[in-house]
Amino acid sequence: MAQTITGAKQIQRKSRSHIVRQVRSNWYKVTSGETGRTYDVNLGLNGGTCTCKWGRERPDQDRRSACSHVIAAMNFRAAQKGRRVSAWARPEDAERQHRPTLPIGDGVILTSRVKWKVNGFKTRPKPGGQQRKSRAH
Ligand SMILES: [Zn+2]
Repeated sequence: MAQTITGAKQIQRKSRSHIVRQVRSNWYKVTSGETGRTYDVNLGLNGGTCTCKWGRERPDQDRRSACSHVIAAMNFRAAQKGRRVSAWARPEDAERQHRPTLPIGDGVILTSRVKWKVNGFKTRPKPGGQQRKSRAH
């Protein structure tokens, strides 16, 4: 099946149902809210790679995957800076947001905006996992 990512909003919505756990500075475990499967996402500055089926099929010249798992991890990273990302498939839609834009491969562009209210961290404590608060007092 020849797939292209055109439904950026659909993927964005899907990404919100995933559970993201940070393993290392750029390494995330993303569990699908749909299937319960967990994938490894490695983030770079301009997107990331993923071990899901879509991610594994990315071409060698650009391994970046704009799947919902990478977007979930990008949003997780953005949330630590008090930001939230949105995904767009058309550059003109992304530019209309008048926000910082970031192409993450597969023709998907992320924009990020500051969350309206940031009352500390909203991340739930994970059982067994160490919770690291990077906020200095
Ligand atoms: Zn993926």
